[in-house]
Amino acid sequence: MARTVFSERGETVRLDSISTGPPKGITKGKARQRFAALGAEMFELQDAMFGAKVNSAMVVLQGRDSAGKDGTIKHVVGCLNPRGVNVVSFGVPTLEERQHDFLWRVHRHAPRIGEFSIFNRSHYEDVLVVRVHGLVPRKLWKERYDHIADFEELLAEHGTIVLKYFLHISRKEQKERLLERERTPQTAWKLNVNDWKERDRWDEYTEAYEDAISKTAARHAPWTVVPADKKWYRNLVVAESIAEALREHRKGWKSTLEEMGRKRRAELAAYRAERAAKKKG
Ligand code: ADP
Repeated sequence: MARTVFSERGETVRLDSISTGPPKGITKGKARQRFAALGAEMFELQDAMFGAKVNSAMVVLQGRDSAGKDGTIKHVVGCLNPRGVNVVSFGVPTLEERQHDFLWRVHRHAPRIGEFSIFNRSHYEDVLVVRVHGLVPRKLWKERYDHIADFEELLAEHGTIVLKYFLHISRKEQKERLLERERTPQTAWKLNVNDWKERDRWDEYTEAYEDAISKTAARHAPWTVVPADKKWYRNLVVAESIAEALREHRKGWKSTLEEMGRKRRAELAAYRAERAAKKKG
């Protein structure tokens, strides 16, 4: 499957060398079938993670306007049990948020043990839009890569499975999506003149994304560049990646759950024995 995973800090990232479309040979029908199977698997794994209370998962979705962050959330979260999933969108920081360090608003939404946090935009905006628009001095945003890497390491040490996705669309596809949004009465409300303004800064964003991915990629917090021109393929790649990451923990979670089951059974047996003894007495 054409997916590009970055899990080493400092790796070179060249977005223009990564395809925005699906590889040849994969059909929409097959992808949908596989997505359904992955959805069922994710549901089962989520249940095990929820019960075992050893790990949690933080899924970060980043991408240009109209790249499909919302659509991915709708499809992937749609496979999960809503109990135990927290979806958070990060927009322009509020006054209160601006009065704190840039990670404050994100850290409060880090997942509780056993649960998922799914982020539509994230702390990465502080090295993306903030960098491109020069919203803080260069020195400040440059230092943020280390802060982000340390933050994600802290979460990983706490048992959080950190997964980061860049939804990679082509300039042409973005234009079509924005025009389609304008043409369609049901979606015209989403129009935002800023989307076109940001599009003018395409190359600056490309550079900012490449740096962000390269400087914060880690084994415990990998980045996946997701070919996102086709929604069905984008959903498949994200689902495949999440399922794969959770799958690694399946055995551990299952044995924790079995151990818990044995303990609970023993407690119940002890209670029944005590009750029976009392009755006799
Ligand atoms: P979306 O475009 O994700 O559907 P919005 O229309 O609410 O949602 O846009 C959110 C906006 O907030 C984006 O333009 C994004 O760049 C901006 N934003 C997010 N985080 C920050 C930040 N830390 N500083 C400045 N702007 C930010």
